[in-house]
Amino acid sequence: MAILRFSFGTMGSGKSTLALQIHHNLSSRQLFGLLLTTLDREGKQVTSRLGVAAPAIEVTPDLDLYALAVRQWPIHYLVCDEVQFYTVEQCDQLARVVDDLEVDVYAFGLLTDFRGELFEGTRRMVEIADEHAPLQVEARCWCGARATHNARVVNGAMVYEGETVVVGDTNEQTERLFGDTVRYELVCRSHFRSGNLGG
Ligand SMILES: [Zn+2]
Repeated sequence: MAILRFSFGTMGSGKSTLALQIHHNLSSRQLFGLLLTTLDREGKQVTSRLGVAAPAIEVTPDLDLYALAVRQWPIHYLVCDEVQFYTVEQCDQLARVVDDLEVDVYAFGLLTDFRGELFEGTRRMVEIADEHAPLQVEARCWCGARATHNARVVNGAMVYEGETVVVGDTNEQTERLFGDTVRYELVCRSHFRSGNLGG
């Protein structure tokens, strides 16, 4: 039986590193599979914070992932990074890949956005995955508590409203957006709620 496994964590939880590791391990056992991602800052590849990278297929919103798997068949697995940005339809296509093609799907994504709410793709994965695997590399808030929220910081202050799709899990921590300085910081729930960035 093929499986759909959803692994999730915060930024900095090493999910891209693990996605690359699984892809490497399986392909070195003569298994053939595809690496997929979307919105990676470096373009059509998956990059990890540890400096490892591999070429990947770019998942655009209109790409049919089931049709992609059929075209590439026979394959043994798909490794899908940044699934928080996939559409509900694409998540359902991945389930069909598992059920109809007997192809394992290892999906990786962020759990919640800067508002503290589930991403669209994440919500669907939580609903349909066979296995749910929280990543065990835990990031820490400035106070030392376990960091559970990816806070968006605009001009030095935490914000809770705005566009959701701005950045994936990359090394790039600061960017310019409409003249504002935008960065992300991992904080605990308490300091997410209070907006306290320490210092
Ligand atoms: Zn804290």
